Amino acid sequence: GNKAIIIGSGIAGIAASIRLANKGYQVEVFEANAYPGGKLSEIEIQGYRFDAGPSLFTLPEQVEELFRISGKNPDEHFQYTKLPVVCHYFWEDGTRLNAFADLDQFAQEVEQQLGEPAAHVHKALERSSYIYQHLAPLFMHRSLHRFGTWVNKDALKSYLRMGKLGIFSTMNRANERHFQNPKVVQLFNRYATYNGSNPYETPATLNIIPHLEFNIGAFFPNKGMHDITLSLYRLALDLGVKFHFGQKVEEILVENGQASGVSIKGTRHTAELVVTNMDMVNAYKTILRKQKQPKLLLNQPKSSSALIFYWGIKKDFAELDLHNIFFSENYREEFSHIFQKGTIYHDPTVYINITSVYKKDDAPEGCMNWFTMINVPNNQGQDWDRLIKEARKNILQKLNRILQTDVESLIEVEDILDPRTIESRTSSANGALYGNSSNNKYAAFLRHANFSSEIKNLYFCGGSVHPGGGIPLCLLSAKIMAEMIPEGK
Ligand code: FAD
Repeated sequence: GNKAIIIGSGIAGIAASIRLANKGYQVEVFEANAYPGGKLSEIEIQGYRFDAGPSLFTLPEQVEELFRISGKNPDEHFQYTKLPVVCHYFWEDGTRLNAFADLDQFAQEVEQQLGEPAAHVHKALERSSYIYQHLAPLFMHRSLHRFGTWVNKDALKSYLRMGKLGIFSTMNRANERHFQNPKVVQLFNRYATYNGSNPYETPATLNIIPHLEFNIGAFFPNKGMHDITLSLYRLALDLGVKFHFGQKVEEILVENGQASGVSIKGTRHTAELVVTNMDMVNAYKTILRKQKQPKLLLNQPKSSSALIFYWGIKKDFAELDLHNIFFSENYREEFSHIFQKGTIYHDPTVYINITSVYKKDDAPEGCMNWFTMINVPNNQGQDWDRLIKEARKNILQKLNRILQTDVESLIEVEDILDPRTIESRTSSANGALYGNSSNNKYAAFLRHANFSSEIKNLYFCGGSVHPGGGIPLCLLSAKIMAEMIPEGK
């Protein structure tokens, strides 16, 4: 049969391998690391298990669909739970709020804790779902780079609604119009960070995100986020996909304008088609360096990165949930530090993800696994060792103030992930979490296509190309891409 080579076993690369195997291709995946999953991996330190990267899971049907198209019942291979409380929010002045998954309950809670009329919340979520309904069919499920996407009835209707869809405003301005309490504005502005953007710059269209969380739901895979990788990896193996680990592709071979395979340490591996799951910017810089470069896309600003402290904590905090946010007192300053000044604000918003709340064996008895993360600029060669030391101190002081405890004395084990290691472990340009940022209209909607317009039989999937970063969009990128590829013979 026809052979397909996939470069990279990130979540989109695995999804692509499953889809192409289903199309009748003999699929081989070459992965630089010794393990599958890229950013979606896990680490273990002395009895504590941590999901290494992504922690929030939405749109589980994108995972399930991969089992279904392979003739399997997803329930038997991948189980997850819908979260009753999406997030716990904490402010310095002692205000606390539970973001209940149930919309009525959430709106009530916002009214009780923050004095914002529940009706405002309902209205904001209605707008969010309006944007989703009019944009998802066009943007999330199709290639923006094919003529047919632009000239059909749905598309025409969407153009007429551009203003209403928020293209011309920013997320922050839209939220300030909707809400009177700055804390509610802050809470809704936070959704910009779901794709590494700045709420004070990104189009209000990104207010599509709360719809995913509240109207569709947030979930937790029962065996942890890493089970998304493992269950799909097993499915791919089952379909006959061959994985080669520790195999870093050095070049995509192109003959007569057509991709013909890859080269690894001088060895040529040929195939009828080549898919790259590698970060698009670094792909052009390395494995496609001899090919024509899409300069405009390569020079777009990148999304933010993250600094993570994996802390084994020898205490059980009853007030903490799976997702916890400790807000900065000055959100605007925090983002201007990340995106304009390229540094870390002294009072960052701290996110703690604790999977042991749902999956007890992720930490020893009476302990918790704190994945403690702040948003930071992408890597421009800053003095990270100094920034990390300062940030660690500021984070600990903030948590001590809000939780009324001494966190440092509870830390039993520690590991750190920073923009440099994110870059070196998954080859993402500047360690950005989500490829190019969505901080302007162009970047938000025009990412690199899922195919090459210069080289035949070369395809792209993953968080740095259309439709965008984050697990659900990565899975969709593999789907949109596979739909362009003819059945294997
Ligand atoms: P990647 O995970 O980037 O993997 C690419 C793979 O390609 C890697 O395994 C790499 O080794 C391999 N590769 C690269 N170059 C080569 C080469 N030359 N040869 C062979 N192999 C190569 N998303 C969410 O949905 N929810 C979240 O809560 C969330 N939080 C995040 C937090 C952090 C800290 C990070 C880092 C990311 C987060 N994301 C989140 C984003 C999400 O992790 C990514 O969008 C997604 O995992 C990217 O998948 P991908 O398929 O693009 O590939």
